[in-house]
Amino acid sequence: MNILIFGPNGSGKGTQGALIKKRFSVLHIETGVIFRENINKKTDLGNKAKGFIDRGELVPDEITVPMILNRLQKSDCKSGWLLDGFPRNLAQAEALADALTKAGMKLDHVIEIILPREIAKKRIMGRRICAVDNNHPNNIFIDAIKPVAKEGKLYCRVCGSEQLGVRADDQDETAIDKRHDIYYDTKTGTLAAVNYFRNRTNLIEADGAPGVEEVSASLLARLS
Ligand code: AMP
Repeated sequence: MNILIFGPNGSGKGTQGALIKKRFSVLHIETGVIFRENINKKTDLGNKAKGFIDRGELVPDEITVPMILNRLQKSDCKSGWLLDGFPRNLAQAEALADALTKAGMKLDHVIEIILPREIAKKRIMGRRICAVDNNHPNNIFIDAIKPVAKEGKLYCRVCGSEQLGVRADDQDETAIDKRHDIYYDTKTGTLAAVNYFRNRTNLIEADGAPGVEEVSASLLARLS
C-alpha cells in the first residue's frame, strides 16, 4: 500500500504516520527526519539543508525532489510506503505524480489531516522530542500525550526517558509562521499539492482536532 499523508506542522501527522506504519507494515519515509539525520551526521546534504530548515524555509526542490524520488526507487519500498513531508508544494506534487507514473507505482491513499492554523501553532510549541525514539509523542499542551512530570522534571510518556528535548525550529515563532505560510498556501504551497491530488485520487480527510486515538481510529477505519 502506497500512501501520502498531509497535515500542517503540529497536526499530529508524524504520530498518525507512525500508527499507520505499524498497522500496515509500510515504510515510513519522513523528509524532515531524513534531513535532521543528515544534519546530525554533518553530511553534505545536511550542511546544505540546515540553514533553510532553521529559518523555516523549504529546502530547495533541486535538493529535495531527487532525494525523495531516489529513495522511492530503493528495493525496500516495494512492499509499500507512507510518504510524510513530501510533496510540500505544487512543483513537488507534479514531480512525484510524474515519477510514480513512470515507475508504474500506484498511489492507494492520500490523507489530509485538517487543523486550524492557530491550534497547529500552539501544538508545535508544546511538542517535546524523545531522544530514544522521535516517534514517541509528547506534548505539554495536549492532555492525551503529556510527558510524565516528576519532581520538576519531564520524562517521555512512552519509554520514560529523561532525554526530552525541543526542536530548535519548534520554538521560533517566525520559523513556525513561515512553515505555516507555506502549508496553508493554496496557490503553490502544500495545500495546492493537496488539491492537486484531491482532483486525481480519492482523498481521505480527517479532522486533526480530537485526540490521537480518535483521529487514528477514524483514519485506520478508512484505510483498511
Ligand atoms: P518537518 O519535520 O516535516 O517539519 O520538516 C522540517 C523541515 O525540513 C521543513 O521545515 C523544511 O525546511 C524541510 N523539509 C521537509 N520536507 C521538505 C520538502 N518536501 N521540501 C522542502 N523542504 C522540506
